[in-house]
Amino acid sequence: MKKNISVNIEIGKMQIFIEMQKMTESILDKALSLEFISLDEAKYLYKHATLGDLMSVAHQIRNILNNPQQVSWIVDRNVNISNRCVCGCKFCNFHVKPGSDGAYITTEAEYDEKINALIEKGGNQLLLQGGLDPKAGLDFYVSLFSDLKKRFPQIKLHALGPAEVHFIAQRSKLSVEEVLKTLVAAGLDSLPGAGAEILVDRVRTIVSPNKCTSDEWLNVMRVAHTLNLCTSATMMFGHVETIDERIEHLIKIRELHQNRPEGASGFSAFIAWPFQKSGTVLERDFPEIQTVSGEEYIRMVALSRIVLVNIKNIQASWLTVGKDIGQMCLFAGANDLGSIMIEENVVSAAGAHYTMTAEQMVATIEEAGFTPLKRNQDYTPYL
Ligand code: SF4
Repeated sequence: MKKNISVNIEIGKMQIFIEMQKMTESILDKALSLEFISLDEAKYLYKHATLGDLMSVAHQIRNILNNPQQVSWIVDRNVNISNRCVCGCKFCNFHVKPGSDGAYITTEAEYDEKINALIEKGGNQLLLQGGLDPKAGLDFYVSLFSDLKKRFPQIKLHALGPAEVHFIAQRSKLSVEEVLKTLVAAGLDSLPGAGAEILVDRVRTIVSPNKCTSDEWLNVMRVAHTLNLCTSATMMFGHVETIDERIEHLIKIRELHQNRPEGASGFSAFIAWPFQKSGTVLERDFPEIQTVSGEEYIRMVALSRIVLVNIKNIQASWLTVGKDIGQMCLFAGANDLGSIMIEENVVSAAGAHYTMTAEQMVATIEEAGFTPLKRNQDYTPYL
């Protein structure tokens, strides 16, 4: 009798396992046909699909959307316009309050030196990031961008982000559209997807309570798309968010891109990186936060590729996870390794210290079995 009961339990378990496999396969087939999977389906995959299944399907989707042999990369330089910021994000060790000790603003001579070094290394993109600086209004950025463009016309300005644009619009009492049009006229070439963190307000009120809301972030990007400004989308995960909230974030990005005006480029790429906690207020307030493991990062990259079938490029953040995990991501849906990053000050202030030269980037891609393609900020080949 006891034996019969245990045999029945084993059969029951086996049937559940087979059902789960069937369900997983049908969702993965749907993704492979480039159909949008739902939030519940993505949750199901996150919970039940093996890492191998996720990587395999994500890699096949990557090969449908991109040249299977190529992995793109870029030489750019991250210059912080200043470190003055009133936002006080709890994951950011980089900012200081305006007027406090250590506050700086990058000078003309420093821009010259940094941009000349970028050009010498074969780069043509400046990733200009600031913060929410009440002393820097729209006029400040217009004069900075137009001056940089006058002196370095070949350099593309990939600058600010939705949070800064929203802040400038609020302070100058202008619409987001007016601010973006003015910045583009001054030399802004593309808008990075910085400051997205997790686009769910429950999370934002904990990690960055003074930053724009999810809707405000999405609205700046919506306006940027109507102006056909090249943009990217990001996600910083592995802090206080739930898995559902990560997926909700992905679906908001997918919907916004899908609803872009006809002919607009929308989001050229999606980049996820794990929260770097070392010495942050968030680490102090939530000591239970675990560092995202390599496996977890790869799983999220693969899931991003599977959910975001309408966005062409998925970038792996080797800067935060290191070269080896970066290479693994090239088999989990990623087709871009981003920049060699001549200078970076924000995630490195919270514990990410990986570096790479252009030669090392090329070697990293070749070692993984791909052909490196040096690109511009809009993902066109660098000529
Ligand atoms: S992440 Fe950006 S907006 Fe937030 S505190 Fe740091 S500099 Fe300011």
